[in-house]
Amino acid sequence: MEEEQKENLPRAAESGPVSGQGQVKQRSRLDGQELPVKATPAAYVKDFSDPVYKEIAVTNGQINRMTRDELRIKLAELYLETRGVKDVLRKRLKNYYKKQKLTQTLLIKPECSDTYYDYICVIDFEATCEENNPPEYLHEIIEFPVALVNTRTLEIEDTFQEYVKPELKPKLTEFCTKLTGITQDMVDKAGSFPDVLQRVVDWMREKELGIKCRYAVLTDGSWDMSKFLNVQCHLSSIEYPRFAKKWINIRKSYGNFYKVPRTQTKLASMLEKMGMKYEGRPHCGLDDSLNIARIAIRMLQDGCELRMNERLHGGQLTSLPNTSPLESAPPPYSPWQKI
Ligand SMILES: [Mg+2]
Repeated sequence: MEEEQKENLPRAAESGPVSGQGQVKQRSRLDGQELPVKATPAAYVKDFSDPVYKEIAVTNGQINRMTRDELRIKLAELYLETRGVKDVLRKRLKNYYKKQKLTQTLLIKPECSDTYYDYICVIDFEATCEENNPPEYLHEIIEFPVALVNTRTLEIEDTFQEYVKPELKPKLTEFCTKLTGITQDMVDKAGSFPDVLQRVVDWMREKELGIKCRYAVLTDGSWDMSKFLNVQCHLSSIEYPRFAKKWINIRKSYGNFYKVPRTQTKLASMLEKMGMKYEGRPHCGLDDSLNIARIAIRMLQDGCELRMNERLHGGQLTSLPNTSPLESAPPPYSPWQKI
């Protein structure tokens, strides 16, 4: 029921009165027409007692039967983004009507700035690698980028980027340089990981993240934190930063929100399904972060409340239920400061 909880809609209601199996037929409510609903199975109202949920369910049923062209026409009429595959367009239109109806009935406030993150920090590390990494290969972080998304303006407000000097294997492989565009010279001139992390922390504190602003870290998959950062902190003999203990795995959020199988949530697929093209150089950490940020912004526009959904607990990667309270990441501290 994860997706349905997110949508606040019981699936039975979606396929109920509009399914055409001898039940009450409904006309489109896309234009806000109020039509009486006669069939009211108990299951519909069990958890969603306000009649508005039934209205939303009827509208959703209608949207489910629209073709891609019909969806695009409707979105264009509403001055909404028309790019993307059918599932994405469908979700966008459903969300528009859901938000409109809930706002009209005052079940949600039009502005809920005190209940959501103000900022999202998109982080996509680049790390040392070989063409065929042996299973025990220890990846060292060589690029630390951050793209700062303002969730109110839906803009990338600032970026951070520094390269990092690897210590275990200071010489980059040709494969690694080809893949990431990071040269030996770039890492030779770079600071150590603890120094770079310190500058990230200073930068985040300047933005008052976790101090005056609520924020969360967002990554493309689980590995950036559970593998790369975790291993790097061990190698650098520093404490794993508290601000990165919970994060939003956008692949998971994307799959749940647009109902796309997890196998289709790689960066290139997510962009393609949204009708967007990768901008910049793939595997440049900052460009990857900026492209992930573009997806996150589009998801926020489509009404997805991106929530922290994974965490590192006792060194182990675990999932956070979407029912857990929405809390900001803590203020960042310098890597040596014991809390
Ligand atoms: Mg990358």
